Amino acid sequence: MHQTNNFLFKSLNNAQLNAVKHINGPLLVVAGAGSGKTKALTHRIANLIENNSVDPHNILAVTFTNKAAKEMKARLQVLLAQEIALNQFGQPWSTLKEFDQNQLRTNIDQERLRDLWIGTFHALFSRLLRYDIEKYQDPEGLTWTRQFSIYDETDSQTLVKEIVGQDMSLDPKRFDPKKIKRAISNAKNQCFTANDLEEKADNHFDKVIADAYRRYRISLSKNNALDFDDLLLLPVFLLRQNDLVRDYWHKRFQHVLVDEYQDTNRTQYELIKLITAGNTEPNKFCEWNDRSIFVVGDADQSIYSFRAADFRILIGFQEDFKNSSNNNQKASLVKLEENYRSSSNILTAANSLIENNTERIDKVLRSTREEGELLKLLSCDDEISEAEAITTKLRSLNNYNNQPIWKNFAILYRTRAQSRVLEESLVRWRIPYTIFGGLRFYDRREVKDAVAYLKVLVNSSDNISLLRIINVPRRGIGKTTIQKLNELSNKLNIPLWEVINDKQSLDETIGRSSKGINKFTELMNDLLCYIENSGPAQILQLILEKSGYLSDLLTSGSEESEDRRNNLQELINAATQFEEETENPDVEGFLSTAALTTDNDTKKNHPNSVTLMTLHNSKGLEFQNVFITGLEQGLFPSHRSIDTPSLLEEERRLCYVGITRAKERVFLSHARERRLWGGMREATIPSIFLSEIPEELIDGELPQSGGASIRRDRHLDRLTRVDRKDLNESINRPINAVRKLYSGPSKGKSWLIGDKVIHSKFGKGEIIHIFGSGEKISLAVKFGDKGSKILDPRLAPIRAI
Ligand code: ATP
Ligand code: MG
Repeated sequence: MHQTNNFLFKSLNNAQLNAVKHINGPLLVVAGAGSGKTKALTHRIANLIENNSVDPHNILAVTFTNKAAKEMKARLQVLLAQEIALNQFGQPWSTLKEFDQNQLRTNIDQERLRDLWIGTFHALFSRLLRYDIEKYQDPEGLTWTRQFSIYDETDSQTLVKEIVGQDMSLDPKRFDPKKIKRAISNAKNQCFTANDLEEKADNHFDKVIADAYRRYRISLSKNNALDFDDLLLLPVFLLRQNDLVRDYWHKRFQHVLVDEYQDTNRTQYELIKLITAGNTEPNKFCEWNDRSIFVVGDADQSIYSFRAADFRILIGFQEDFKNSSNNNQKASLVKLEENYRSSSNILTAANSLIENNTERIDKVLRSTREEGELLKLLSCDDEISEAEAITTKLRSLNNYNNQPIWKNFAILYRTRAQSRVLEESLVRWRIPYTIFGGLRFYDRREVKDAVAYLKVLVNSSDNISLLRIINVPRRGIGKTTIQKLNELSNKLNIPLWEVINDKQSLDETIGRSSKGINKFTELMNDLLCYIENSGPAQILQLILEKSGYLSDLLTSGSEESEDRRNNLQELINAATQFEEETENPDVEGFLSTAALTTDNDTKKNHPNSVTLMTLHNSKGLEFQNVFITGLEQGLFPSHRSIDTPSLLEEERRLCYVGITRAKERVFLSHARERRLWGGMREATIPSIFLSEIPEELIDGELPQSGGASIRRDRHLDRLTRVDRKDLNESINRPINAVRKLYSGPSKGKSWLIGDKVIHSKFGKGEIIHIFGSGEKISLAVKFGDKGSKILDPRLAPIRAI
């Protein structure tokens, strides 16, 4: 180590230092939001490289989004540059000339960080597959080559649809291909094979799914394609079965780091285990036991259970990753207990909210900051006035001045559909905004077309992509011709490309209609001559010129085609950038990037704009001011979650994530009436979460009724047993009155929030929530130092006191 007073360590507290300096053996960092987990992880990588002579080649760092990976790499670049400035030149960074600073940074990127594998699970393990997929031995004899295509949701669904409708001759109304695809995906996320499903299936529907799963894999293999789930599942099977492959990656990645560990699923967990366990039986450690594995997470921020994420994986870490160099003790644990992000009012509000969850590990999260402002409640008549209230706030906080700072604001919502009304209001006031999570750049028609050409050029088995471009731009190939050829390809069990490349069989099958097809094969064969020696950018350029795609757009001259041309230019720019940033920038690598890039990664953020995104997308980020919108029962928490305690707890974690994104201000908005799913406006009930934040931290009361028309819909009926009068009253009462609304009968007893009960084991307690109603009722009861429990009053030994 160069010097003790290291630059990298300066901005860290003691607990973070312990985490950063802990080099060997497994380590778990658990801590609440904004406590510097991601910062500790980044500094740890820099410390490994700079002070412990670890080659970046030996580091694997997993982030939750591509964008986070990019930011972390940029951060590392600066950290290392600063560290070098101090250690090697004996000069603080700030005293170096700008030219020297830039030079240092560029050198670091090119020389030191290129080999560092940092990215999402999908990006990292698809990269691994590009090296080793050909070594995979499938139990059913299926094969893939390293040129595999990655199918997005639309492509994979097309395959499933074909399988269900054509191969299995099932009625798509009874067996919805979307549902079947989801079930297959779910199985893959839990590391189940088609065989596993078959063995477990005890009803017809499950058997159909197992069968569809098997056929779907065969079909993917025929296309030499993988879906997103395979990018993780195949590496699991490969690493399990091949000692040499596992040993190679194990030896390479001597340091493994994972951010947001609470949102890993079983398959991802298995990958981490395999990579760290090395050349021994899976799940058993031997000489590699002291492997440096570093994970950080917060169980209270686990919000992806619908993608099979399971925060018990985080909780089990210490047991799972024993430390052999230390008597096989449990993995070390570091807790970070200071929050650096939010003002203390915001933090107290978030902490109070999350305490209402019963499935959690209690932890300390102290504020390091001043009290700050109260959280502000915006009670609005309907969704339109909610949007207006938000834009008014935005403007007033900017003092209606001429140089407003919009980038300090984020508007978060539970469902994407909520963004439309918000956008309209922002447009009306000419407030620039960037909306994340919309159509992916790579999903635009023209971009998908161009990428499909690339896919076919490297992977001629990819029928789905071939069918997409065979007549684009138009070559006079009719639908019947395509259908005939496709049938022939299926019958002969050879890729469509080979069918159309065989002139003789082409003439026999479609006779004179082969003109357009010949044009297409000539084009593709011509392009194939370039593929060996050109990078993705040049090939794309050739595709667009030689196919006539660009000239078609030019001739049309419409505004829309102008847009499309710009997008294609942008695609070429992306390919050029990829070539500059990547060590071996081949076409396959670019295709992986194109498949896995999300809207958030490519978005050209207006440098000064308001951010609009879902609460899910906001994880890990921070903003000065945050609006959390639509705080109404049935919207947030979502309709699906209200009767299911575990789902409701996940919604509460989502709300915790939302609130803790803010540094200075939080605005909580709800509308008393809202139009949902394009139907009639309906009266709403304020979100239960509003009642869980201490009143004294909130500025604002539920206003007097603005004459909202109250309709009891099915959902409200299920939610509460209030009648119109109660509901009206609740709207007219201050916010904490909402608590009183949740009540339900049981064994003839009607429970109310605030009722005192006695439990034979836990003693005295107070009802803090009532979930569901009628037969489905359960009570959340807070028992002094025993914490909160969710109980079924018909079974639990409790009585009212
Ligand atoms: P989340 O749970 O939301 O992902 P986190 O625990 O990863 O949060 P970071 O994003 O790493 O937290 O840090 C939150 C903020 O606190 C950042 O702005 C970071 O720069 C700052 N910060 C972290 N540690 C310290 C510290 N020791 N001193 C001062 N500021 C810090
Ligand atoms: Mg973080």
